[in-house]
Amino acid sequence: MNEDMEKLISLQRIDSEIAGFAQAIAKCEADTVKREQAILDEQEKLAALKTKITLLTEKQQENQIEHEEAEVRMKESQNKMLLVQTSREHQALLKEIEDNKKLAKSTEERALQFIEQLDQLGKEVEALEAQCATEQAQLAEVKQKAAKEIKRLNTSKKGVEGERTEKAAAVPPQLLQRYDKLMLKRHGLAVVAVKDSVCMGCHMTLPPQQVNEVLKGDKLNLCPTCQRILYYEAPEEEAESGTPEAAGETLAPEEVPLAEE
Ligand SMILES: [Zn+2]
Repeated sequence: MNEDMEKLISLQRIDSEIAGFAQAIAKCEADTVKREQAILDEQEKLAALKTKITLLTEKQQENQIEHEEAEVRMKESQNKMLLVQTSREHQALLKEIEDNKKLAKSTEERALQFIEQLDQLGKEVEALEAQCATEQAQLAEVKQKAAKEIKRLNTSKKGVEGERTEKAAAVPPQLLQRYDKLMLKRHGLAVVAVKDSVCMGCHMTLPPQQVNEVLKGDKLNLCPTCQRILYYEAPEEEAESGTPEAAGETLAPEEVPLAEE
């Protein structure tokens, strides 16, 4: 295989490794942020529950006053009953008593509902507060672990980055420029294998003539679809160990040709 090609393959391997570290660091950070957000959401929910409790308590008190007033009026009407003279007055009083009795009954029923609702909300608040407390304790632990892990990953990443500088210096400048440009436009995957006549970057099948040229490996071969730099990799059963893995396989393949080369 062409010597420059070997350098590029090894550069790609290092860059994929660096990207892997960067991804792992981002994942650590995202996990912490996600947990923090979950706690914030719960706290917001708690505040809303507490507002609801305040409003409901106010209504409960209003209902209590309404109930007491109805009972007072009922008693007053009952007392007046002894003094009435006409049947009209008697009828009017009876109606008043009946109305206030109804009101006293309905407010009493509502009072029970308030107690039930407030009891339910109180339980919800209690559960959510306990959950928040647990998650906050966990967060402190997770943050500590994440910081440690990020530090470790950064150290490893720096080590590989040093190696990258050396490897990049060994690649002819023009080729390196092409590689770097491809890296930017093709989501960190510039050099890919051709396996079973398929470009491992965009997963398109290459014409047989081009596969032969890649196999010969005496010149720079680019994928006609994604423009990535190609090298030959033997099919699975013949593959030797130590061949570079197609990095970034999880990335969406790019089918659009580069705008300008
Ligand atoms: Zn391709």
